[in-house]
Amino acid sequence: MDKEKGKTGCNYHRPSWDEYFMKLAMLASERATCPRMHCGCVLVRDRFVLATGYNGSIPGSPHCYDVGCLIVNEHCVRTNHAEINAICQASRHGINLEGSTAYVTNMPCTTCAKALIAAGVKKVVISSEYHDTLAETFFRDAAVELVRLPLPECVIHYNLDEYSSAKPLK
Ligand SMILES: [Zn+2]
Ligand SMILES: [Zn+2]
Repeated sequence: MDKEKGKTGCNYHRPSWDEYFMKLAMLASERATCPRMHCGCVLVRDRFVLATGYNGSIPGSPHCYDVGCLIVNEHCVRTNHAEINAICQASRHGINLEGSTAYVTNMPCTTCAKALIAAGVKKVVISSEYHDTLAETFFRDAAVELVRLPLPECVIHYNLDEYSSAKPLK
């Protein structure tokens, strides 16, 4: 056994459940198709991932990265937002979102906030803000809990060199 490996124990920060699901949302955001914004959303109930989404074009349509953004009133309208896409994914798979928690990389826009509320989401966790949104007002009026989770370290730790049981692909 390589005794140089397995030294991560002391300083390693094992993510909380909230951090874990927020990191999944950040990972989902990497699939975004619009260069103006990368956003991810993970819908969870009882620590079980129900659906994920990122801001992306509707299925079968071209991506902003390939054909440019479609700007209306200074916003790109080509994509569905991450929250809408997560709700749509759940819908296509017949998954009930009642009582679920949404982990979103940023504060939802007004439209997505209303959709999350209408879908039955009862708690929203965010790690950054968003401009011009009435989300907080709608959440308050609908008794949806809003949690701000600062997550400055947007890093996924997976270092093969540190794990004694890991072997690189040949
Ligand atoms: Zn775009
Ligand atoms: Zn939105």
